Amino acid sequence: MPTSSEVEHLLRGADLRVTRPRMAVLTAVYDHPHADTDSIVGVVREDIGEVSTQAVYDVLRALTGAGLVWCIKPAGSVARYESRVADNHHHVVCRSCGAIADVDCAVGESPCLTASDDNGYSIDEAEVVYWGLCPSCSATDKETGT
Ligand SMILES: [Zn+2]
Ligand SMILES: [Zn+2]
Repeated sequence: MPTSSEVEHLLRGADLRVTRPRMAVLTAVYDHPHADTDSIVGVVREDIGEVSTQAVYDVLRALTGAGLVWCIKPAGSVARYESRVADNHHHVVCRSCGAIADVDCAVGESPCLTASDDNGYSIDEAEVVYWGLCPSCSATDKETGT
């Protein structure tokens, strides 16, 4: 978890003006990996008081554009944000409750999956999402026997 001076440093390093909402949003993303916009709005409001949802959206867009924040959008899920941008990692998503966890890439570099036919495209990324049931959902599953 970065300190506020580290967060400031990250913003400056990305040529972004340091503002309270930007500091608060970036800190929230670090503290709550894979949070959706609504949860980030909640955290930011607890931190700096009233701020509009639109303002948080705008900040998230700026941070994503600057490469400080990564946006993931598993099928059927709203956009979620994380601060882990430097590596090529993947996600495992629970089909039942939507919980998301990080999975380190077995290969390390992108693209970590070789296309059987690149169709002449120069491919730089393979989007890998693992789907299944999280530990607590598979436990409930067994209890109810469904
Ligand atoms: Zn689950
Ligand atoms: Zn992640």
